[in-house]
Amino acid sequence: MAERKVRVRFAPSPTGALHIGGVRTALYNYLFARQHGGDLIFRIEDTDSHRFVPGAEEYILESFRWLGITFDEGVSFGGEHGPYRQSERRDIYKKYVQVLLDNGKAYIAFDTPEELEAKRKEIANFQYDASTRGAMRNSLTLPKEEVERLMAEGKQYVVRFKIEPNEEVHVNDIIRGDVVVNSSILDDKVLYKSADELPTYHLANIVDDHLMEVSHVIRGEEWLPSAPLHVLLYRAFGWEDSMPQFAHLPLLLKPEGNGKLSKRDGDRLGFPVFPLEWHDPKTGEVSSGYRESGYLPEAVINFLALLGWNPGNDQEIMSMDELVRLFDLHRCSKAGARFDFEKGKWFNHEYILLKSDEDVAKLFLPIVKEQGIDVPMDTLVKVVGMMKSRVNFVKELWDTCKFFFVAPDSYDEKTVKKRWKEDSAQCMAALADLLESLDDFSLEHQEEVVMKWIADNGYHTGNIMNAFRLTLVGEGKGPQMFDISSVLGQEETIRRMRRAIEVLK
Ligand code: GLU
Repeated sequence: MAERKVRVRFAPSPTGALHIGGVRTALYNYLFARQHGGDLIFRIEDTDSHRFVPGAEEYILESFRWLGITFDEGVSFGGEHGPYRQSERRDIYKKYVQVLLDNGKAYIAFDTPEELEAKRKEIANFQYDASTRGAMRNSLTLPKEEVERLMAEGKQYVVRFKIEPNEEVHVNDIIRGDVVVNSSILDDKVLYKSADELPTYHLANIVDDHLMEVSHVIRGEEWLPSAPLHVLLYRAFGWEDSMPQFAHLPLLLKPEGNGKLSKRDGDRLGFPVFPLEWHDPKTGEVSSGYRESGYLPEAVINFLALLGWNPGNDQEIMSMDELVRLFDLHRCSKAGARFDFEKGKWFNHEYILLKSDEDVAKLFLPIVKEQGIDVPMDTLVKVVGMMKSRVNFVKELWDTCKFFFVAPDSYDEKTVKKRWKEDSAQCMAALADLLESLDDFSLEHQEEVVMKWIADNGYHTGNIMNAFRLTLVGEGKGPQMFDISSVLGQEETIRRMRRAIEVLK
């Protein structure tokens, strides 16, 4: 048989913000598609109208634009297998429901919610299946005329899948191997509801995967229980030959390692579980996003790629291109992946280091401007070069670098106590005079002259530098002193020194 073209899909239901686990699923589909020169489809599964949330679809698309995950076909991308929004495919599903009814793989059931509820009360663990369907009101038990009459009257009904009991159903899963389930544990799932003339998730999902020629279904572990049913549906349609290969990805676990990661964990521990900030249109609640929290998209991608997969060695930093090259579905773990958000911060730090000083400065510029500071780009680039290794987020650069742009208006008490000695005022006055006399204020020249001055006068280098730092920064932190003074420039350096001497005397 000829190798099948790789076609995968990401098929979210627009029920709210996209959870970070969904982003990982989309990423793995993307990596797999790109690696095999295949297609990635974006399908919207919106057949459950009660759960539809306006804005969700646009939010999901915007998330992928930010992250650099691109699609080849689908809602907003076009393609030859459309429409890609399930609510626009009603007629297609109707036709396929009829196919199953005609070949006896499905039947019509009239049981009302009240009747079903009564059955559940009567029979413990009631399940609509081969053992119970004979006692229910459906097209298998009612005379043909009665069925026709009820339908003509417009009585509401559902179409159920007729599952044959006691059959071994095999799901061949790339990650989990041969998953075997006895069909008797499955219930006769509802495939279609006359009430809204819409199929359920299961039917629409299978019909679309088939018609869109999906070769691999890569999705979260929470869909594994549905997979045997999906295999049976493929068979009922006679589509065995086009059955996709399944790969059910491991769950994302709480940072502590037990239980599924939830939005509450994010709220509790202070990290986002959504790619972008989300404004819930119903509750008005605002949830934080990776983008707005200052994460770089490359860092988020790299972090997520390693939640459930690794390249087989201890390499951690990988660009999207490298991930495309190295990703391997067979190397995905079965066991859940602990969501270590501290690691996420570490990735962001690493990606800040990997970016050029110019690029980081460009991201920092608006933050500096917001503080009402006007600073030339080359100065900002210099400052960023000195300071970026100290932060996990670009926005943290402000607090770390503020003293470059704003003169201290007070002096840290503890540092003053420790660093400002008897003779500090006198020494700093002499140093200020010396620095003021320089024609060349370059870092190298300052250093040469000042070190000689210290030696000639028999001063203690540490004491001088500590006091000098206090005058320029206002506290005991920061990079090398001459790095600071040369960025500040001669005038500002002298001004800060004289003011500190004045205040601290
Ligand atoms: N609509 C489902 C979801 O929201 C798709 C599951 C699947 O990939 O089959 O995740």
